[in-house]
Amino acid sequence: MTPEGRELLLSTAAELGLDLTGRAEAFGRLLDLLVTAADQTNLTSLRGERDIILKHFVDSLTCLRGEWLDGEVRVLDLGTGAGFPALPLAIVRPELSVTALDATRKKVEFVGRAARHLGLTNVEALVGRAETLGRQPGQREGYDRVVTRAVAALPILAELSLPFLPVGGLLVAQKGALGPEELEAGSRAAAEVGGEVRAVEPFTLPVLGDARTLVVVEKTGPTPERYPRREGVPNKQPLFWKAT
Ligand code: SAH
Repeated sequence: MTPEGRELLLSTAAELGLDLTGRAEAFGRLLDLLVTAADQTNLTSLRGERDIILKHFVDSLTCLRGEWLDGEVRVLDLGTGAGFPALPLAIVRPELSVTALDATRKKVEFVGRAARHLGLTNVEALVGRAETLGRQPGQREGYDRVVTRAVAALPILAELSLPFLPVGGLLVAQKGALGPEELEAGSRAAAEVGGEVRAVEPFTLPVLGDARTLVVVEKTGPTPERYPRREGVPNKQPLFWKAT
């Protein structure tokens, strides 16, 4: 990471209330791994240092707004891709136990490799589909928090995520601008699968100013046995929402 990149990371993280001084080296190594992997595969579309720092690292860390992920909690990153937000979270919060889940093996292998290179002992990489894992004993109700960034519309996220949580658990969804229709459908879907929207926090990404919304859904009752529906159905026939 260049000195300018380091300064950008530290100053934007400071805007989020995070002191990354002792962690800049880890982020530098993650940057190198991403750039190398992106040259070899199409793991992520972001290549430049500035883009990776702002749109992957800092954007991922915005899920630490509020106190939703405080404490020694088990976190599932649903649809982690190349490890976002899982890897930045695990670097910044060693007390979290983070499971990075994705349906694409190649991406999950990258996350596992990156975690090893960075010496992160609090990351587990898991290949599979949320629809199937969410029915497995040990996985169903197996986490305290689900985080998810840029994966699906809120009603789909509710159906895929809430089965992984016990009552009292939280889904912390990182979304872009969120229209009232998606929020309404998301609230109804959450109610259907045992959840309730607890917070909707709009904010802008440091430096770039892009619109973001953090949506927090609390699990308030058991998820009915029929959810999640089988693979592909939550996306094709989202609860209370139009398919895209
Ligand atoms: N969270 C990452 C990746 C977003 S792309 C980031 O913000 O950069 C969405 C990812 O979700 C893809 O890698 C896709 O494979 C994964 N995904 C989508 N639906 C899924 C499902 N039902 N189960 C597991 N992974 C899923």
